[in-house]
Amino acid sequence: MPRPDTIAVHAGRTADPQTGAVAPGIVLSTTFARHADGQLVSEYLYSRERTPNRSVLEEALAALDDGREAAAFASGSAATAAVFMALSTGDHVVLPADAYYGTRKILIDVLGRWGLRHSVVDMRDLEAVERAVTPATKVVWVETPSNPTLTVTDISAVAAIAHKHGAKVAVDNTWGTPIGQRVLQLGADLAMYSTTKYHGGHTDVLSGALVTRDVDEFWSRVRTIQTGFGAVPSPFDAWLVHRGLASLPTRFRQQCASALHIATELAKDSALEVVHYPGLVTHPGHAIAARQMLHFGAMISIQVRGDAQRAIAVAGKLKLITRATSLGGVESLIEHRKTTEGPTSTTPDNLLRISIGLEDPLDLLEDLWQAIHTS
Ligand SMILES: *Cc1c(COP(=O)(O)O)cnc(C)c1O
Repeated sequence: MPRPDTIAVHAGRTADPQTGAVAPGIVLSTTFARHADGQLVSEYLYSRERTPNRSVLEEALAALDDGREAAAFASGSAATAAVFMALSTGDHVVLPADAYYGTRKILIDVLGRWGLRHSVVDMRDLEAVERAVTPATKVVWVETPSNPTLTVTDISAVAAIAHKHGAKVAVDNTWGTPIGQRVLQLGADLAMYSTTKYHGGHTDVLSGALVTRDVDEFWSRVRTIQTGFGAVPSPFDAWLVHRGLASLPTRFRQQCASALHIATELAKDSALEVVHYPGLVTHPGHAIAARQMLHFGAMISIQVRGDAQRAIAVAGKLKLITRATSLGGVESLIEHRKTTEGPTSTTPDNLLRISIGLEDPLDLLEDLWQAIHTS
């Protein structure tokens, strides 16, 4: 079995047998011809169901996570929704208190009205997870490191609890990536990704994916939702994500190395109240992160001394780091998370979330220092 860096470059890529083209082409056709006898010319029929570009992307995504299959979606949120829609009225989901706000919206505001039930727990507390699981629990959703306070959940421990009760574990591994956190090997049944972020890596394609350890009845329901509802990536979007995969390992490792350096330096700065980064030995989840992550990720949250206005003022002074939501691209981004999440947000007022990109980490640090100390 080749190693992840090799898989990222080669999975789903072979020179075109007709032309020898080394870079994959893009097949835009929505429909696929049949022979005179009615047989399809290839395995393709209609593009909502399958397209050549989606197929090779899914093959590569499954290989990179060492999963059985992958399903590509039009966004990370569409991938999340497919997991919950594969459940039935009366089924129960355990959701972490600190989860991507869109995940909560899909599960509670939309599917709650359809009779899907849920409990929200602090997943750092394994006894709370144990208490929350009921005979109706079908999925325990994990997000680690979490958004935006980077809490760390012990994936193997949660999987052991869920499996004892016959529930599946799905991990939103967007921030860990298959390079930093091997969630299927840690006991998860499903890995979910917003491939909009590190997989695509260039801030130019919205997309998502699920990777499964088992091809079972649940997975066949996920496939029916994917192909039946059609929240799928276009051929060009699939091609962009597939291209991004080739450099994902190298980009991600560099971004993680920069983030560790920057977080370590910022943690020494008394002008900040807290620096949240699981790679810091002072982070409450560091020991678990060190056990289950190969790299600590490239997301840092800082809490300034002061209120929301003070945090917004610090972000306003930055010259190099762009003020924008999202993450995982080559360029560093910063946002006042509470402004993005809106009035129901539980994110601290003084928190800024930073996505470390591929710039020289010293340039990023100098930009942060000048903003923190002159605003
Ligand atoms: C961005 C993100 C999502 C949502 O993905 P979209 O591609 O924007 O739909 C879900 N989870 C995490 C952790 C994210 O960062």
